[in-house]
Amino acid sequence: MIQIKTLEEIELMRESALVVSKTLGILAAEVKPGVTTLQLDKLAEEFIRSEGAIPGFLGLYDFPNTLCMSPNAQVVHGIPNKKPLVEGDIISIDCGSIKNGFYGDHAYTFEVGEVAPETKKLLQITKESLYEGIRELRAGNRVGDVGFAIQKHAEKHGYGVVRELVGHGLGREMHEDPEMPNYGKRGRGKKFVNGMVVAIEPMINLGTHKINQLKDGWTILTRDGKPSAHFEHDVAIVNGKPELLSTFKYVYEALGIESNEEDEFRQKPLIH
Ligand code: MG
Ligand code: MG
Repeated sequence: MIQIKTLEEIELMRESALVVSKTLGILAAEVKPGVTTLQLDKLAEEFIRSEGAIPGFLGLYDFPNTLCMSPNAQVVHGIPNKKPLVEGDIISIDCGSIKNGFYGDHAYTFEVGEVAPETKKLLQITKESLYEGIRELRAGNRVGDVGFAIQKHAEKHGYGVVRELVGHGLGREMHEDPEMPNYGKRGRGKKFVNGMVVAIEPMINLGTHKINQLKDGWTILTRDGKPSAHFEHDVAIVNGKPELLSTFKYVYEALGIESNEEDEFRQKPLIH
């Protein structure tokens, strides 16, 4: 059942989403050759707790850490470890929080030093496909409209859209209804109404859309060993339109990137 949120609850969810956004901003400054994903995980946990929040993934379905850390051919759900990142890697960082009793869930794929041009393009197109999807998140549209837009943009560039893992409703539970696939048909699926909050999270592969899972029971990786990217935003439907609750602003500040890509999805200025 879809849990509709009041405007007050949406503002509480924004606070939780912003804890994750700020965490990703802190990590952005630390992602470089030589750092381990376990070091970054520790930093994230400390920061989340200092914000009066709780790591959202730690212990969820028995996940052992604060962050899902998925380098290169790993798609999602990688477990932090002591292996240092190296120049040319990409690392998808997915982070969750619980604040005010609500989950935040937000992800970004970072470049480690200088990466190959074809990988850089994968990251750019995956992020664009996220926004293509968010643009469809309007009252009266349907779940399939979001998936269709994401899939169309990614496949136009010859990329593989992961099928087995999907976005989701977000709230007092990490995974609420509806499921939000990154593929689909226009006009199909549940209809969007004001007060819905969802996490939209395209997982896009440079090569095949097919995946495998490691024996650790968590790590998902591409079947052909080519890189995969993952970007995720938390979005509410307010006044019939998408309203971003999370932001890449802190990441961009840390990386010195100028961007107004989020402006069209913000009905009120970001104050935090
Ligand atoms: Mg996530
Ligand atoms: Mg998610």
